[in-house]
Amino acid sequence: MAKIAVLPGDGIGAEIVPQALKVIKAVEKKFGRHFEFEKALIGGAAYDQKGHPLPEETLALCKKSDAVLLGAVGGPQWEKLPVELRPELGALLPLRKELGLYANLRPVRVFPQLADASTLKNEVVSNLDIMVVRELTGGLYFGEKKKEAIDEGFRVVDTLVYTTPEIKRVAKLAFELAQKRRGKVTSVDKANVLESSRHWREVVAGLAPEYPQVELEHMYVDNCAMQLVRAPKQFDVMVTENMFGDILTDLAAQLTGSIGMLPSASVGGRVALYEPIHGSAPDLAGKNLANPLATILSAAMMLRITFNMEEEARAVEEAVAKVLAKGYRTGDIMQPGMKQVGTEEMGDLVINEL
Ligand code: NAD
Repeated sequence: MAKIAVLPGDGIGAEIVPQALKVIKAVEKKFGRHFEFEKALIGGAAYDQKGHPLPEETLALCKKSDAVLLGAVGGPQWEKLPVELRPELGALLPLRKELGLYANLRPVRVFPQLADASTLKNEVVSNLDIMVVRELTGGLYFGEKKKEAIDEGFRVVDTLVYTTPEIKRVAKLAFELAQKRRGKVTSVDKANVLESSRHWREVVAGLAPEYPQVELEHMYVDNCAMQLVRAPKQFDVMVTENMFGDILTDLAAQLTGSIGMLPSASVGGRVALYEPIHGSAPDLAGKNLANPLATILSAAMMLRITFNMEEEARAVEEAVAKVLAKGYRTGDIMQPGMKQVGTEEMGDLVINEL
């Protein structure tokens, strides 16, 4: 039986993941599917109970499952821990590395019903559909880090490292996705300054002849940030290194109305991991205020990518669209004249539409 490891994590993770589970259970019922679920601790919650943010049993469970559904990790109470015990550095990054998840797919899609919820003009964002492919296990986040004392304080080092194969595999994925979409890849780098970016650009350009039907363009990351708010519809598939992708997708999330709307899939190994792009939102935790739709849409990506259940995935996405069309909103996407609901109610509404 298909097995899903369920890792709610910290903060709003404990509220949004149950909504996605409810939706998957409704899919089981409607389509006659069966999944096995097993929960485990990760992040600060795992540190508090087990002394480590990524306990061995959690990692073992993820490795023997078919897919992982994750909420979010982190919170102010764990920020002073030694680096290796902090939820993001001690759990999330090693989990991605251990599962070989080198690519993070972040679809930035604006539901027509939410075009007015964006801070940008309706005509700039309506029908926007971009796929960002973020490299996930290399670059600045994984390079060697150092902090050494000097006379006036410290000398601190973060290292940005990429190898040719690391760039090739993620770029190939971007080209393949573009072939199935509108046929354009924008590779984002900082080749005017960084050696690693110059190599990134060369490797990506070297692959282009293998995909003659895909148009390749290169763009500097600073210009890309500007273009994303100026004219985001120029993009189809965007591929970029780890930190650039992290920052640009938070920016892109706002085009969709809220970071609470953006799902993601991390792929590359046997087991894929599905999670919303946002964090644990400690300001909302425990208040039934968080938007669960990014997590529900991440579950839809899981149905499509890991389980090859296109019809089921579409049904979930359509149910979300219908709930929005009926005017239901969580606080983050609330607009005048709409009906505000909490996290749980939003989950129930999606199930009703299913
Ligand atoms: P965040 O994404 O948690 O929150 C940023 C803002 O977006 C906040 O105002 C929050 O209320 C809002 N927001 C986030 N998710 C929302 C949702 N589903 N519905 C409505 N509003 C939502 O980012 P942050 O505040 O920078 O970080 C908080 C904690 O999360 C930190 O400990 C950070 O390290 C961690 N974090 C974890 C992940 C992850 O687990 N993948 C990602 C980013 C940050």
